[in-house]
Amino acid sequence: KFIRTPLIAGNWKMNMDHQQAITLLQKLAWTLKDANHDFERVEVAVFPPFTDLRSVQTLIMGDKLKVKHGAQDLSEHDSGAYTGDISGAFLSKLGCEYVLVGHSERRQYHGEDDEICAAKIKAAFKHELAPVLCIGEGLDVRQAGEHIQFTLAQLSGALENLVGELTEAQLGSLVVAYEPVWAIGTGEVAGPAEAGEMCTAIRGRLTELVGEEVAQQIRVLYGGSVKAESIAALMAEEDIDGALVGGASLDATEFANIVRFEH
Ligand code: PEP
Repeated sequence: KFIRTPLIAGNWKMNMDHQQAITLLQKLAWTLKDANHDFERVEVAVFPPFTDLRSVQTLIMGDKLKVKHGAQDLSEHDSGAYTGDISGAFLSKLGCEYVLVGHSERRQYHGEDDEICAAKIKAAFKHELAPVLCIGEGLDVRQAGEHIQFTLAQLSGALENLVGELTEAQLGSLVVAYEPVWAIGTGEVAGPAEAGEMCTAIRGRLTELVGEEVAQQIRVLYGGSVKAESIAALMAEEDIDGALVGGASLDATEFANIVRFEH
């Protein structure tokens, strides 16, 4: 099934100080090592808070861990008078490969819209970070039956004006995470068929935006209360290429069991 390398990504949100981060990452690395995890087969990435990134980078480099790391946000600007913001240039220097863009909590608490997401995606690529664009509908939209239309509009809104400026290699490295807001941190997982239907629709819209060949390379993840017990059925869906995991990524054993979904 896997024509794209599955990606299991852990979004730690605003949890774990830099010491707790080291303990969690060490435990995750040991657990995966004991299980002989093949990182070429299933890629693993963690998204710690900014203040942990240097410690995480040092541990990964020192112990030659194959876990990758990314940041939870970036500024659309490169540098300058933007107090409190973090540039993509800083993140790539800290060894980040990925960066989340447009997580629903950024949209909700920081008013990030499609235009800001587009600017952040552009900034991410400029600094050689692969953006993980998060999209997904709230409960009211789902109940009104407008979830597909709504989520695809977020996808187009973030990408349509950018596509011409990006190379095929950049576009192929994009990751899209479908995260229905009603399933995030609520314990409510979208059923595999519901999640799969949306991820297929996302790939369809990507095909319209970037062409079939590139759309086939882009990984589409599902996120929303994923746990070890729910991952296998999600991964069986044709267009689901991995998961963005929040709460369950803070428990090394649970997260390792999600990574090892085939066992
Ligand atoms: C998330 O924050 O991206 C997420 C999916 O959280 P949770 O797994 O806790 O629902």
